[in-house]
Amino acid sequence: DWEAMTDIAKATRARLAEVVDPKPLLRLKETAKSPDGSVKRLWATKDDLLVESVLIPEKDHATLCLSSQAGCRLGCRFCATGALGFKRDLTRGEILSQALLAKGQEPFEAKPTNLVFMGMGEPLLNLGAVLGALEILTSPKHLAISGRRVSISTVGIPAAIQRLGQSPLNFGLTVSLGAPTNPLRDQLMPINREHPLEALKAALAAYPLRRGRRITVAYVLLKGVNDSQSEALALSRYLSGLKTKINLIPFNPWPGAPFERPGEEAIEKFRRTLAEKNHTVIVRWSKGLEVGAACGQLAGQKAKRRDPAETLATP
Ligand code: SF4
Repeated sequence: DWEAMTDIAKATRARLAEVVDPKPLLRLKETAKSPDGSVKRLWATKDDLLVESVLIPEKDHATLCLSSQAGCRLGCRFCATGALGFKRDLTRGEILSQALLAKGQEPFEAKPTNLVFMGMGEPLLNLGAVLGALEILTSPKHLAISGRRVSISTVGIPAAIQRLGQSPLNFGLTVSLGAPTNPLRDQLMPINREHPLEALKAALAAYPLRRGRRITVAYVLLKGVNDSQSEALALSRYLSGLKTKINLIPFNPWPGAPFERPGEEAIEKFRRTLAEKNHTVIVRWSKGLEVGAACGQLAGQKAKRRDPAETLATP
């Protein structure tokens, strides 16, 4: 309340009231905690858009997963956020607020040591704001998170991957593949029609990695869609020559989702095929299933989803 700051000249208070809104950029709408300790937060922007962040505690560190956009325009078919449609880019302040405002909330058990941009939105389509927020989050005066503990997740936009690679902070890169061949990826991830796998591979090969680091490849496993032996072999061929580690993510169903999670046997067979081809591969079970760990799930419960048929339309 500027008017209560009586040690500031009246004219200055009036001017401040005009140009600075002191209210936080985000309001906390809901906190959901799952038994594994993950804390998912649903925030509302000043224009009442919903965004999510998740704090995921691990044994010796905690990872904070941030959103970069309210909704997403890319419409990956397996993604709960994609089914919400796109509202707008988040500002640098709104991205930052997900981390800084959480510090004042209970339960906030652990100071995050790692940051990932795997929440709502495609961070490389809002790269200016993401890098602006990271400039502060990595600053020793604020959360002081090391650039090597930051990973940015993308579906693969070659020019933006190149731009990200120019950052002196040399962030980690995660790429969501979803499919190892263009025809299947075109269907599952419409961005592939614009930037097919060959262009993506060239951008990944050129990404400057720190010594000993690799690009993380996230591959969501969808029952009967991309989980066969031939897809595992095609994935292995696609990744040959790249320094990668593969995270297999069994699909985490959300209401209205058109896919199912494969059975454990199929998941293990897929993993083993890749391991036998000398890939580093792990199965990452989504943490916080009870609170809807897939990005966009909590927001989706509050907001009207787009008609799945509209989201899933393929040309
Ligand atoms: Fe958007 Fe990422 Fe979801 Fe694709 S996976 S729709 S890019 S938020």
